[in-house]
Amino acid sequence: MSKKNKSKADTFFSCIEKNFDKATRFIPPIEKGLLEQIKSCNAVYRMHFPVKIGKKIKVIEAYRVQHSHHKLPCKGGIRYSLKVNQDEVMTLAALMTYKCAIVDVPFGGAKGGIKIDPQTISVENIEKITRRYTSELIKKNFIGPGIDVPAPDYGSGEREMSWIFDTFLSLIPGEVDALACVTGKPLSQGGVRGRKEATGLGVFYGIRELCRIKEDMLSLGLDVGLDGKKVIIQGLGNVGYHAATFFHEAGAIIVALAEREGAIYNKKGLNVSNVILHLKNTGSILNFPGSKNIENTEKALELECDILIPSALENVIHKNNANRIKAKIIGEAANGPVTPDADEILGKMGVIVVPDIYLNAGGVTVSYFEWLKNLSHVRYGRMEKRFSENVNSELLQVIETICRKKILTEEKKMILRGPREIDLVRSGLEDTMISGFHKIRDIKKSSGIENMRTAAFVLAIKKIIDSYEKLGIFP
Ligand code: NAD
Repeated sequence: MSKKNKSKADTFFSCIEKNFDKATRFIPPIEKGLLEQIKSCNAVYRMHFPVKIGKKIKVIEAYRVQHSHHKLPCKGGIRYSLKVNQDEVMTLAALMTYKCAIVDVPFGGAKGGIKIDPQTISVENIEKITRRYTSELIKKNFIGPGIDVPAPDYGSGEREMSWIFDTFLSLIPGEVDALACVTGKPLSQGGVRGRKEATGLGVFYGIRELCRIKEDMLSLGLDVGLDGKKVIIQGLGNVGYHAATFFHEAGAIIVALAEREGAIYNKKGLNVSNVILHLKNTGSILNFPGSKNIENTEKALELECDILIPSALENVIHKNNANRIKAKIIGEAANGPVTPDADEILGKMGVIVVPDIYLNAGGVTVSYFEWLKNLSHVRYGRMEKRFSENVNSELLQVIETICRKKILTEEKKMILRGPREIDLVRSGLEDTMISGFHKIRDIKKSSGIENMRTAAFVLAIKKIIDSYEKLGIFP
């Protein structure tokens, strides 16, 4: 293989293209140019800007990639990491396009990246960099409620989103929909209840749905349900921490947790909130009472378990460790944690890989709810909460009269309760994850597709073709 071909074959973006091409075998014949258009990144903005750090000027490298404009606005998180590069941001933007299509969220895919290590930079300087990045986006019309709406990703969170919103508002004064220029904001600044835990909760809903299917569990030699299933989670950040908490609460046994500095293992199970407390007190998950330390954190992926949830970074399961994985289910909470080579090996081993383009879509789903809330300028539940409570109360009175029996006060409280914002958001997320799962599974079964990833790509491609056809024009 020539040097040029080799580097193309090795890129993260080419892995996604491979998955895409595999899926096109299962869709009806279509104009090749349209498939090319769907695959390619529509706009790549690479920037360098100066920021004064202490007495020195530091030049920051950053990106915003809009993969697809078939629906607007574009949507995708911003990654803060020293590993950020153009190939990675392009790939993550492409994943966003397919993800949004799968869960019926009307956005094109995008992604941002700032090449810094937020762990070694002061909060003041992260703020300076974030604000300058936002003004660069505004300059090139790469941000706005109807243009491109960023969100948190690896290394960023609510705090950064609130700086983005504030910078946007101060540079575009009078924009009545300014709140909708970014999602993942704190509640006090137009955020929506349930966004912080949305990706982890979506991961939980997706895996729970798989574990409810008798036929699939039988094929893996597992019992139906999550209760007692052994789970390993890599990465205890926003996604991994919440996923771990929901699995723990549902009765799964968290046998190992892996972080940068190493992993901890206890075959009887780890109490996730106590581990977090220990992490806060000591600065590390290692030496957690009752658990065994694993110095080489990657080795945690190879431990005995039923479900493995990589929730940190891409390419952590590759051709050199795939055949040592013992999990029967891998839930891709992170983006791209399993390389295509590893995917093939795992498929032959009978492992079910639940793909990122479906499984971690909870974040963008609830971001969509936040965006809608910001555009409508009204909190979810505000209009219907009291109304539902009144209707329920009247219904209850009729039932009590007919039955000649008084309902207990505690039961009454539960029945009367009207929906709050968090109830509506979680129910919307649960419904999205469950119906997304079954759409993918149905395609997999009806088309005789060997894995969930290809079936998920088929679903996404069909949806995108559909929306191009509805537009009636091809760019
Ligand atoms: P985060 O920064 O909150 O957390 C990442 C965690 O991984 C950190 O605790 C970090 O210390 C840990 N980590 C880093 N290197 C590690 C290693 N080698 N081994 C073990 N742990 C390691 O990031 P996040 O928002 O939770 O995102 C994690 C992944 O999920 C990323 O791939 C991201 O693209 C994806 N994702 C995030 C969201 C979201 O809503 N935040 C949505 C969809 C997908």
